[in-house]
Amino acid sequence: MSAVSMWSPHALATTTPPITIPSKISKPVTDWCTPLVARLPKISDSDCRNSKVQPAGANSANGFPILVRDIAADPRRKQALKVLLLGGIHGDEQTASAIVFKWMEVMHKPAAQEFQWKVAPVVNPDGLLAVKPMRVNARGVDLNRNFPTPNWQQDAPRYWAKTTRSDPRRFPGKAPISEPESRWVYDTIEKFKPDVIISVHAPFGVLDFDGPVTPPRRFGRLIYNRVGVYPGSLGNYSGLHKDIPVVTIELPNATVMPADAEVQRIWLDMLGWIKRNVPAQAKLAQR
Ligand SMILES: [Zn+2]
Repeated sequence: MSAVSMWSPHALATTTPPITIPSKISKPVTDWCTPLVARLPKISDSDCRNSKVQPAGANSANGFPILVRDIAADPRRKQALKVLLLGGIHGDEQTASAIVFKWMEVMHKPAAQEFQWKVAPVVNPDGLLAVKPMRVNARGVDLNRNFPTPNWQQDAPRYWAKTTRSDPRRFPGKAPISEPESRWVYDTIEKFKPDVIISVHAPFGVLDFDGPVTPPRRFGRLIYNRVGVYPGSLGNYSGLHKDIPVVTIELPNATVMPADAEVQRIWLDMLGWIKRNVPAQAKLAQR
């Protein structure tokens, strides 16, 4: 039996909160850069095209492709660490996607080539492309509350109802990985088996961390400060449940990019932390 079939979506009495649902896309999207760059601060059409992102083979709820780029490590490196870099799981955090495009411009440099990368700059395209960018996906689900953490069935709806007072921006969905976008992240973790996951958000201006290794102290101006553990979050699922370290980068502003120098400092500090602190999953399993 697969892990997923154990959950019954019927057990929940929650209703989907009212949310403006963007309309479905009627035909396959071939020009993804034009709509995306209209929403991404400081990212030009050529930045998007040069990133060479390609459809990952999974679409958003509305039918927009989830875009991914695989970048191999320097071939002389045997068993390079695998990094899964995710931007924009919340669609209204535009800088979180934009900074991932910026970093993709420097991934051919030696410091980045130590690692094998899988990069998805826009995990929630429907949220980003909504008439007014929104945190949730097109079905009104907060993807970062939709991962299959233990006891999701009890904890996620209860947390939503009690702690968030049924905030429509934080609806966890009716079942874990009920959404194509969170399902894609889940499947990618299973198949790619990353040694570390970096997920970029905004606007809290801090670093959060979940997992079995030493947390980062600071990347650029961003200082480590626990934001919290939530039922169904990616950090909770991967970092605490799957033992894959997850760094959550919270940029200080959702619509205004950090200065170029800060964009680079965060990047270099992140690479340094991975190199010093992240062991290969195989080694972690032996501990
Ligand atoms: Zn966020």
